[in-house]
Amino acid sequence: MKDLKIINGKFPDFENDSWVQADIVIHDGVIEFVGDVPVECENVIDAAGKVVAPGFIDIHAHEDQFVGRHEDDFFTAGRGLLMGVTTQIVGNCGDNYNAIEDFVSNIEHEGAPLNMMTFVGQNFLRELAGATDRYQASTPQQLDRMKKMLSHLRKFEPVGISCGFEYAPGVTSEETIELAKALEEEGYLISVHFREDGPKAPQSTRELVEISKATGYAMEMSHIGSCAAVGYMADTLKIIKEAREAGVDISSDCYPYNAFCTGIGTAVFDEGCFERWGKSYSDVLVLSGPYLNQRCTRELFEKLRAEDPDLHVAVFAMNEEEVDLAYQTPFVMVGSDCGFVSRHGHPRGAGAFPRVIRQYVREKKQLTLIEALRKMTIMPADRVGLSSKGEIKEGMDADIVIFDENLITDRATFEEPTLAAGGIDYVIVGGHISADHGRIVCDNAGRYIGYNNRG
Ligand SMILES: [Zn+2]
Repeated sequence: MKDLKIINGKFPDFENDSWVQADIVIHDGVIEFVGDVPVECENVIDAAGKVVAPGFIDIHAHEDQFVGRHEDDFFTAGRGLLMGVTTQIVGNCGDNYNAIEDFVSNIEHEGAPLNMMTFVGQNFLRELAGATDRYQASTPQQLDRMKKMLSHLRKFEPVGISCGFEYAPGVTSEETIELAKALEEEGYLISVHFREDGPKAPQSTRELVEISKATGYAMEMSHIGSCAAVGYMADTLKIIKEAREAGVDISSDCYPYNAFCTGIGTAVFDEGCFERWGKSYSDVLVLSGPYLNQRCTRELFEKLRAEDPDLHVAVFAMNEEEVDLAYQTPFVMVGSDCGFVSRHGHPRGAGAFPRVIRQYVREKKQLTLIEALRKMTIMPADRVGLSSKGEIKEGMDADIVIFDENLITDRATFEEPTLAAGGIDYVIVGGHISADHGRIVCDNAGRYIGYNNRG
C-alpha cells in the first residue's frame, strides 16, 4: 500500500516547456511513480483540472524569532506554507534571528511547517564579535573572531553567508571576501542585500560582481526590486547580464510589490533616503503598534525612528513597471523576503508566490505559467543545490502544491497582511498533506536541510 496518489492533474515539464498529464504515486516522502500506474492507495487526491506543481522554494526568506511556542516559532513559515512554499532559505540580509544551533535543533526535534535551509549572516556574526557600530569597519581581531565562528558553524551546513551592506554601511567588500575564506570548501552561495539603492544601484551591483569574482562563490543579489526599481532597473539588469556572459555566476530574486519593508531605525532611512527614492514621509506606512496602518508625517517618522527603531514600516518607493521588467528577465527568480514580527508585517509573506501567478501570468500576461513556476521551483532549487526538489519526477522529494491556475491568488494586503492565499487546494511537504484549502493541517513535516544533505 502506497501513501498517496494524485490523479488526473497536470504538471510542468521544464525541460520541454510543456505540460504532462499523469498520475503521481507518493511513498515514504518520495515521488515513486509517475504515469498511468495501477497502484492501490488509501489516500487519493483527484486533481482534475488542477496544476500539480513542485512545491515552491523561497530563496529569500526570514525566519521567526523563537519564543518557545511551536505555532509562533514558525508563524512566518506557516504563512509561507499556505501560499504553496515547501522550502524556505532563511537567514538572509546578513541577519539570523536565533542562534544557529537553536534554530537547527528546534527543527530537528519538532519539525517545521516546511523545509528550511539557512545562511549565516555577516551582520549577525559582527554583532557577536563585538563589531556593533554599523558605520565602522570591523577590527582585524573582530574579523578573526567572525571567521572562527563561521568555521565552527559550518558543522550546521549552512547554504553560505548572507550580507546586509545597506544595514551596516561600515562593512567593506574586503571584510566579506575575507570572511568567505572561512567557508573553505567550494559550492557555497553568497546572498547580498546591496549597499545602496536608487542612483547607486548599478554601482552596488558591480560590487557584488567583484565579490563573486574574488571569492569564487556564486552570488545571489537580494530583492533587486527594492534596490533598482526607482529608475535604475534596466541599467542594473544589464550589469548582471554582462557579468553572467563573462562567466560570473550571479542571479537575483525579487518580490512582486511596489513597497519594501524594514525597521524604521535602520540605516536604510539615513539622511537623503527620500531624495534618493523621490518619495516623501507620506509614502511610509506603519505596519504595527499604535500607529498601525497610518501614513507618516515628518513628525511621526522622526518620533518612531527615535523611539521605536525596530518598528517595521513599508515604503511605497518602487515603480511597478520596473518590477515587471525584473520578472521578465530570465535570471530573476521569485523570493518573498517574508518575515512577520508578532504577526505583523508586509503582505509578501503570505502572498508573494500566488501574486506572481495572478499578476504576471493571468492579468498582465507577461509570463507563461511554466515560466512563472520555473522561477519558483527549479531555478531556486538549482541555486542552492537542491537536486531532489524543484521538479515532478520519479525519485524526487514529494513536495507538491496543487492549485487552480484560474483561481490562485494572493489575498494578503497591507491592511491585512497575513491572509492566506486563495485557489490552493493542497500543499504537500515530504509526502504529508500539510495545508488543505487554506488551513494548516500538519505543521511539522518540514526538515532542516544541511548543505551536505541536499539530496
Ligand atoms: Zn534585504
